[in-house]
Amino acid sequence: MMIRNRRRIAVGAAALVFVGGVLSFWNRHRTIPIERALNPAYWVRHARGLDRYDPQTALLEHGDPNLPEVALTIDDGPDPRYGPQIAQMLHDKGVAATFFVVGIRVKQYPEVIKKIDSLGFEIQNHTYDHQRLDTLKPHEIANEIRFCAANVEKVTGKKTNLLRPPGVQYNDQTLATAKALGYVTVSWTCGARDYDQQPASYIAQRILDRTEAGSIIILHQDTPGTLAALPQIIDGLRARGYRFVTVSQMLEHLHAQRPA
Ligand SMILES: [Zn+2]
Repeated sequence: MMIRNRRRIAVGAAALVFVGGVLSFWNRHRTIPIERALNPAYWVRHARGLDRYDPQTALLEHGDPNLPEVALTIDDGPDPRYGPQIAQMLHDKGVAATFFVVGIRVKQYPEVIKKIDSLGFEIQNHTYDHQRLDTLKPHEIANEIRFCAANVEKVTGKKTNLLRPPGVQYNDQTLATAKALGYVTVSWTCGARDYDQQPASYIAQRILDRTEAGSIIILHQDTPGTLAALPQIIDGLRARGYRFVTVSQMLEHLHAQRPA
């Protein structure tokens, strides 16, 4: 009887230690998306030091964790309701940001994209009509990238070289097709499901909780909550000593650190 009780206690203690270990592991790594933390392939890249930028696949997953900088990315525009206000507010606060835009909407709202461009923001590629690239054939993926690029160039005169896949859904074929066209695929580290019309307080808290040095923050242009949450996010991150960089600058800083 005594032995059985001791065994029960030992099993219970082992289970507690295991659950505690899992929780503390997740707490240390909650600055990356849970899908990534649960993906063994990510930890292989992590062990090889390729979980920031992997030149083989041209995939960017994280900035330099030794620099106090974060990249703010705003997807899904141009949106005529909130896009110009978001851009103006970021500009007034002196914040660098990268806008990943949808080609078909660039064609619809050229004046919005012109304004974002004129305020000095980086404008990059979020495909022609927001299709899930991991469901398409290589030539369809290439067209999604090229047609968006053509629309952006027509309005701004600038080329794109960074791709944010819709839903950040991609596979090896997506990465290879983007790389062949000269693109770096840009993943993310923290978001707030702001596209689900979350309240501003939730969006701000979630981003502030999960941002660390080198984070790539993903927010969206077509929701009022994001516009309302951004000042708090910016002030909160600056108070912690972070500066804002574009995704291109984040990549340059990673490359500069890489030994020749
Ligand atoms: Zn999107």
